Amino acid sequence: MSCLFCKIVNGEIPSTPVYQDELTYAFGDINPRAPVHVLVVPREHLASVGEAGKQHEALLGHLLAVAAEIARTKGLAKGYRVVTNVGDEGGQTVDHLHLHLLGGRPMTWPPG
Ligand code: AMP
Ligand code: ZN
Repeated sequence: MSCLFCKIVNGEIPSTPVYQDELTYAFGDINPRAPVHVLVVPREHLASVGEAGKQHEALLGHLLAVAAEIARTKGLAKGYRVVTNVGDEGGQTVDHLHLHLLGGRPMTWPPG
């Protein structure tokens, strides 16, 4: 499997761990766009939420709950953003589902 985030999950490529459990791994983004920029990924390879089916509903909910838990531990009480990019027009560059948790500065809307 040549997937970058599968290699990170498996420890073949180093990363800065933030959180892990049996379903998910979260690590610091290598090119942070905010003071807090964490990627939350499923250990299982899934290309994006665009590929998710009924069988992934619990996993998707868990990823969101993990992002919220990390936000609490990072002290993002003033707010934050959770984003998942899908496909080329969505700005996705790594085809392994991930939530971006961004915080520590005011966010603008709409995103670019
Ligand atoms: P996206 O563009 O939504 O697919 O997000 C991919 C994210 O992965 C980008 O924010 C990149 O900065 C990040 N990224 C790429 N390579 C690495 C890496 N080796 N370790 C941590 N984050 C990475
Ligand atoms: Zn993968």
